[in-house]
Amino acid sequence: MAMPTAVAARTGAAAPPRARRTRLFEIAEIRWAAASLVLFLVGLAAQLSGAPSWSWWALYLACAVTGGWEPALGGLQALWEKTLDVDLLMVVAAIGAMSIGQVTDGALLIVIFATSGAMEALATARTEDSVRGLLDLTPDAAVVLRDGDEQTVDATDLVIGDVVLVRPGDRIAADGTVVGGASEVDQATITGEPLPVDRTVGDEVFAGTLNGTGTLRIRVDRRASDWVVARIAGLVDEAVRTKAGTQLFIEKIEQRYSIGMVAATIAVFVVPLLWGEAVRESLLRAMTFMIVASPCAVVLATMPPLLAAIATAGRHGVLVKSAAVMEQLGTTTRVAFDKTGTLTRGTPEVAEIHVLPGTAFTEDAVLRLAAATEHGSEHPLAEAIVRAARQRDLPLPEAEDFTAEPGRGVFATVEGRAVRIGSPTALLGAKASQGEATSQSDSDHARDSSARLGDAVADQQSRGRTAVVVVCDGAPVAVLGITDRDRQESAATVADLTRMTGTPPVLLTGDSHITTSRLADRVGITDLRTDLLPEDKVTAIRALQSEGERITMVGDGINDAPALATAHVGIAMGGTASDLTLQTADAVVVRDDLTTIPTVIALSRRARRLVIANLTIAATFIAVLVTWDLLGHLPLPLGVAGHEGSTIIVALNGLRLLSSSAWRRAQSGRS
Ligand code: ADP
Ligand code: MG
Repeated sequence: MAMPTAVAARTGAAAPPRARRTRLFEIAEIRWAAASLVLFLVGLAAQLSGAPSWSWWALYLACAVTGGWEPALGGLQALWEKTLDVDLLMVVAAIGAMSIGQVTDGALLIVIFATSGAMEALATARTEDSVRGLLDLTPDAAVVLRDGDEQTVDATDLVIGDVVLVRPGDRIAADGTVVGGASEVDQATITGEPLPVDRTVGDEVFAGTLNGTGTLRIRVDRRASDWVVARIAGLVDEAVRTKAGTQLFIEKIEQRYSIGMVAATIAVFVVPLLWGEAVRESLLRAMTFMIVASPCAVVLATMPPLLAAIATAGRHGVLVKSAAVMEQLGTTTRVAFDKTGTLTRGTPEVAEIHVLPGTAFTEDAVLRLAAATEHGSEHPLAEAIVRAARQRDLPLPEAEDFTAEPGRGVFATVEGRAVRIGSPTALLGAKASQGEATSQSDSDHARDSSARLGDAVADQQSRGRTAVVVVCDGAPVAVLGITDRDRQESAATVADLTRMTGTPPVLLTGDSHITTSRLADRVGITDLRTDLLPEDKVTAIRALQSEGERITMVGDGINDAPALATAHVGIAMGGTASDLTLQTADAVVVRDDLTTIPTVIALSRRARRLVIANLTIAATFIAVLVTWDLLGHLPLPLGVAGHEGSTIIVALNGLRLLSSSAWRRAQSGRS
């Protein structure tokens, strides 16, 4: 990945309000193509106005050299490295056509060819612009509050923990958390969300987003290279460079096809000669053959629709990391959801602290220990516990030896006590969570307390809460009942996906069956698999895959990372997801909205249909024109027009997915 920090550092002193667009004539290919076009038009005018033939000959020749030298050079270089590319074949065809007197056709071929090359260069430059533009939007300087003073520093020199002052109308200089003030922030650059969102103390903000009318104080949470905006830029960069499966396949056969085509061209030239045909006729037919059989349209069939779909999805808050992923999304036969943070909002609250009888702790004492232990965890449940302690103004002691076991819980030493917090199943075995005694051989006392613990857990779970057990020095001391609200769009999303794939999604969660079943009912999921550890989620996905399902897994936590990597496509919920999850996932939903998932699947399906349509168009044109040339008499200009025409149709077809209406159509098409 390109170093985003370096890029950010290179951008000029005053941050421009909008990204600078590469101007047309800054692109060399466009200059050459334009010159070639002008020479062609002047030549044509000369020819039609009856000027002496040497004059328009010279103009056409100049046109061919201007437009053709670059592809010719590139083609020769490729040949030197023992690959034969289509560019070279087109130049040879043009030279061939001119050598038998068809100068206008030869020059026209070069002009059209150079123009399509220039269009490609323009598309690439625009993509690069948009990547650079994202980074350009982050300010270069920031006002930091250090020792009560306001200092202006380079944004890239900010360190984690710095408090930055953001004035009204400023762009925010770093990823961080609001620690003072309130404002509306326009996050469109990151999430594609058109409306500003209210941000106040405790909320997360992103570098490059635009502050509204309030003044904010922000604590820096990430270094410049980890900013979400820098990561997005890196992802887009990567997506452009990685190729879709279909494209790789095409490139593999392109080589053999090109070589076969040269052989066929020679045959088309030589065989009629043996039958006594005139050299000129035969050469003309062979040149026409070479042009119409070129796979230009085939080469352009795949990547433009997929890249356009990636760009459109990106603008609407879904980052798809590669064309291969965009291609695969549409083949999804079943979606698997994680629960906490994915189908639920991931901002849970501690509803009850049930201190077990016979322990010497108060609610506050339990919460204080629990919050101190959870302080180092990124899990939504951990954040709920820490928040609950803050709400009660409990000062948190330092924790030592913090360890997290994803999907199970955490432990640490607090004030000399060994504290463990986690799921009843993981800490106590499945039996305890069902309200049964753990073992026959236990003493009566142990059996009693274990039964009480089981009851407390079952009680919380039957109320739809997630039960978390707090264990202190080996003895369970409390059960926390934690509630989380469903995302408002969960049910609609599940309904859409059920309709699209023909089967309801499956729910994979580390939480208990009792807690989960109500949520499953509400959102319309019937297949729920509960009490899963991270590795169990992987096993569940493998099992579904062995039944022939193509699974798209949606999750947010570290515990989901292995499952995301196993699924055909792994999607991370960016609002709540951990860094590891973001890295493992194939796609990231940055705008915290589940409905984008069916939409992006519908968009991928459209892109796939376009690829197939494109390949069909390309193949049909080639088949018809080649047959026409071999069996009848295909005039060279018609051959050139047909070939370039199909190339342009295919190229424009791909761009159709670039418009905002493409996203809207995918939104309505998903249901
Ligand atoms: P999900 O699969 O629904 O996202 P997780 O796998 O992240 O849930 O967690 C499964 C269970 O493990 C939780 O319900 C909770 O009981 C326990 N757990 C995991 N991490 C923690 C933590 N940091 N603190 C407390 N409990 C935890
Ligand atoms: Mg989760």
